Amino acid sequence: MKRNWHLDTLAVHAGQQSDPSTTAQAVPLYRTAAYCFRDSQHASDLFSLQEAGYIYSRLTNPTNDALEKRMAALEGGAAALTLASGTAAISFAITNILRSGDELVSTNNLYGGTYTLFDAILPQQGITTRFTNVNDFDALEASINDRTRAVFIELIGNPSLDVADIDRYAEIARRYHLPLLVDSTFTPPCLFRPLEHGATIVIHSLSKWIGGHGTAIGGVVTDSGRFDWTDPKFRLYNDPDRGYHNLRFAHDLGDLNALAFILRLRTVGLRNQGPTLAPDSAWLFLQGLESLPVRMERHCQNAYRVAQFLAGHAKVDWVRYPGLERDPSHALAARYLPRGCGGMVVFGPRGGRDAARKLVDSIDLFSLVANVGDAKSLIIHPASTTHSQLSDQDQRDAGIAPELIRLSIGLEHIDDIIAALEDALAVI
Ligand SMILES: *Cc1c(COP(=O)(O)O)cnc(C)c1O
Repeated sequence: MKRNWHLDTLAVHAGQQSDPSTTAQAVPLYRTAAYCFRDSQHASDLFSLQEAGYIYSRLTNPTNDALEKRMAALEGGAAALTLASGTAAISFAITNILRSGDELVSTNNLYGGTYTLFDAILPQQGITTRFTNVNDFDALEASINDRTRAVFIELIGNPSLDVADIDRYAEIARRYHLPLLVDSTFTPPCLFRPLEHGATIVIHSLSKWIGGHGTAIGGVVTDSGRFDWTDPKFRLYNDPDRGYHNLRFAHDLGDLNALAFILRLRTVGLRNQGPTLAPDSAWLFLQGLESLPVRMERHCQNAYRVAQFLAGHAKVDWVRYPGLERDPSHALAARYLPRGCGGMVVFGPRGGRDAARKLVDSIDLFSLVANVGDAKSLIIHPASTTHSQLSDQDQRDAGIAPELIRLSIGLEHIDDIIAALEDALAVI
């Protein structure tokens, strides 16, 4: 691999060699559950990790491998692991660090499913989350105590679209020797690379812009390989693991100790708990990655034009898009997102919640769906759908006004997108 390729080139080539058995040029889809061992010695060498190779597709598959290598290259990470969904990626990344009795500190402006995971599901496993408002660093430090094991943020929060000041999060996480986990789904690597700003772990839902066409569900976790897990407070890395020959992940991996996080996620996560990505889906995500940088340019351009249009419309009370000069996150966006602020726009139509629902019901072109990051433009009213499990107060704290409409701007011609919004606003 040439070292100095640009990201657009890596998106097309990284992690792939022409297939050794067939010389196929495209990444082949290896739709197999198992792999033939040469003989019983080969089988036992693979099982005892004396030799590297394929055993069973719950653990490793060559199509998934290519996607993992390509994602690691795009993020500038040491290694990556794909999982069955973005939700599985977040869930298993957290429980790959925290165990019962440990605490997480997270921002509160999160993807709805992530908020519920932290607020309602992880507590059933003895893992507590302390939520703080994004960029409230006094509250962040006040929430860190001797049980804290990780800090979690979304680079652009969902759905309020506030940009997190990641350099300050990284500085505080470093000072307390905590890993910083970043859900960067709204900002794929061609827009932002969290590992260059001190993140320990980057997570993406592949289901969104990386896949790009709303055709598959998947997730990926990329490890910087730079975090020191030998600190005894990380018991999952320092206690002998009965499930793996009493291995201590932070100590006993030899040359691979730097990859302790991702190796534990593969062995304990995939091997023992099973949230494996189907190779068919991995193949679709590889197709998506090849055009990702080109598509993101158009998503960003279209979203900016939509935000400008809404900001100047008489029936719109407010608009949030970090790329707008007057947006509260504009200064942070200018620092972190010079290549574009992504495809999401949120706004409040005049007339509150009822007007918002009427607009959603009457708009043409946009699909009314609980998804983002499709080639098609999408619309939803989060307060009554994706974030309806939050209390009214929690919704307000997370920046979800009752009238907020969330748009994921697609790749259609900008004139058609704006005409659809214009017509829908005329109805309310
Ligand atoms: C969609 C999404 C997720 C969850 O990913 P799935 O693939 O749907 O499980 C997590 N975070 C963000 C920001 C998302 O947009």
